[in-house]
Amino acid sequence: MQIFNSLTRKKEKIIPHTPGKLSMYTCGPTVYHYAHIGNLRTYIMEDVLEKTLRAEGLDVTRVMNITDVGHLTSDGDTGDDKMLKGAKREHKTVMEIAKFYTDAFFVDCVKLNIKRPDIIQPATKCIDEFIKVISALMDKGYAYEAGGNIYFDTSKLKKYYVFGDVTEEDLEVGVREGVEADDNKRNKADFVLWFTKSKFDDQELKWDSPWGIGYPGWHIECSCISMKNLGEYLDLHCGGIDNQFPHHTNEIAQSEAYLGHEWCPYWFHVHHLNTSGGKMSKSKGEFLTVSLLEEKGYDPMVYRFFCLQSHYRKTLTFDWENLNNAKGAYEKLVARVAAVLKQDGYTPYKGEDATVKMLEEAKSETDKTGQQTFIKADVIYDEFLDCLSDDLNTAQAITVMYDLLKADIPKYYKLMAIEKMDKVLGLRLIERAEQLIKKEQDDQSDIPADIAELVAERREARKAKDFAKADEIRDKLAELGWEVKETREGTKVYRK
Ligand code: AMP
Ligand code: ZN
Repeated sequence: MQIFNSLTRKKEKIIPHTPGKLSMYTCGPTVYHYAHIGNLRTYIMEDVLEKTLRAEGLDVTRVMNITDVGHLTSDGDTGDDKMLKGAKREHKTVMEIAKFYTDAFFVDCVKLNIKRPDIIQPATKCIDEFIKVISALMDKGYAYEAGGNIYFDTSKLKKYYVFGDVTEEDLEVGVREGVEADDNKRNKADFVLWFTKSKFDDQELKWDSPWGIGYPGWHIECSCISMKNLGEYLDLHCGGIDNQFPHHTNEIAQSEAYLGHEWCPYWFHVHHLNTSGGKMSKSKGEFLTVSLLEEKGYDPMVYRFFCLQSHYRKTLTFDWENLNNAKGAYEKLVARVAAVLKQDGYTPYKGEDATVKMLEEAKSETDKTGQQTFIKADVIYDEFLDCLSDDLNTAQAITVMYDLLKADIPKYYKLMAIEKMDKVLGLRLIERAEQLIKKEQDDQSDIPADIAELVAERREARKAKDFAKADEIRDKLAELGWEVKETREGTKVYRK
C-alpha cells in the first residue's frame, strides 16, 4: 500500500520493519468532552486505513493512547489544563470526567463502525514508563531542569522541524497571539516533559518523580505508550493534521533522542473537518456530536459515508446540505444492495458458507461474450483494493463498488464481493439493506383488508388491460391516503 508520507512529503509504499506485520500508533482523544464529528473524521479515515492494510494481508497491531493528563489548551505547553477545565465545568473529579468521556468516545466508535484498537492505554496508567524515558533523556543530556520543570532541549538535535512546514517564526507568532512565553525555556521550541511547578494549584493528579511531585507533558505520553507496546521500531503513526506540529514533531524528537536511531518512517495525517466558521474544535464550545446527528434523524453510517466521499488529504467542509446529499447517496446505495438481495427471491444473506452450492451452480453462468460472469467479481474487488492502496482513495473505491453493482455477476458472487468491500469501508451495507427489506415487508403486511381488496381488484383490471378501471382504483386509493407503486415484485401500496 502507498500513502502520502508527511515526513518525506511523497507518496510511498509502506514497507514494514518486520515483513508481514505492521505496527500502527494512533493519537487517541483528550477525554475532557465528547468527541466532535471533526475528531471522528480522523478516526474514521484511520479505521479505513487499518482495514485496508489488513485486507492486503498484513498482520496489524494498533495502539491508541487516551489523554487523561497533561494536555494544555495550547499544544505548546501553555494555557489551561484541558482535563481540569472539564472537571470544573461539570463539578466532577478529573478521573470521573476521564472515565465518562472515554466510554462516550468508544460508544461513538461503535456507532460509526470504527474498530477498537488492539491496545488502548490511558496516560495515567503509564507514569513509570514516562519517568524511565525522561530520566534517560536527562542522563543523555537531552533534557534539563528549569524553574522546577523538566524540558526537552531541542538545540541538541541536528534537525527539529522534521515535517518541514513550520519555522521558529511560526512559534513566535503563537507566543504573540496572547499566550504567555515560558521564561524557563532555553530555546523557544523546547517543550515540557514533566511539570512540577504547575500554575494550577488545584491540579488533582500528581505523582512522585526524581524531580519532585508533578505530572507528565502531553507529548511524552504517545512516545512512551508506543515504545512500550510496539517496541523500538514503529511502522506507521497517525493523527489529525494539527498534531503534526508541535505534537508529532516533539514525539519524534524525544523518541529518537531516547532510542538513538530513527523511530517511525511513515506518518499519516488526516486533514480537518471545518464548518463555515473554520476548524471544528472542542474548545469553541458549540460543536457537533454523533448523538446530535442521530437526534436529527441521521444514521451514523451517513456521516461515515460523507467522510469516505472525500479524500482524507483535503479539508472537508461540513454543512447540512452536504450531509443531506450524502444521506440521499447512501440510501440509494443501500437500496441497490437490497435489489441484489431480492434478485430471484429474497433470503437473508448468510455469507460464504451457506452459499457454497449456489456458488458452484453459478460458475456456469456466462455473459454475451461467453465469459464466465463469476470471475468479474474478483477482478472488480482487486480494482477496488487498488484504489484504497493508492493513498486511500475512498471516493474512487465507492465508484468501483457501483461498477460491481451494475455488472452482470451471479447474485451470491456479487453479495460476497460487496461483503468483502464493506469489510474495509465499514458502511454496514448488507445489514442496512436487510433492514430495508424487512421494513418493506412489514409495511406490506400492515395493509387493512379493504385496501388489500382494492389493490387485488386493480391488479386484475391491469391484467385484463382495463386501464381506465385501474386508474379509477388508483385515484380511489389516493383519496383513502394510499399511494400505489408498480415495482419489479408487483403492485405495492404505501401510506402517504
Ligand atoms: P483531541 O481529542 O483534541 O486530542 O483530538 C483527537 C484527534 O482529532 C486528533 O488526532 C486531532 O488531530 C483530531 N482533530 C481535532 N480537530 C479536528 C478536526 N476539526 N477535524 C479532523 N480531525 C481533528
Ligand atoms: Zn499523540
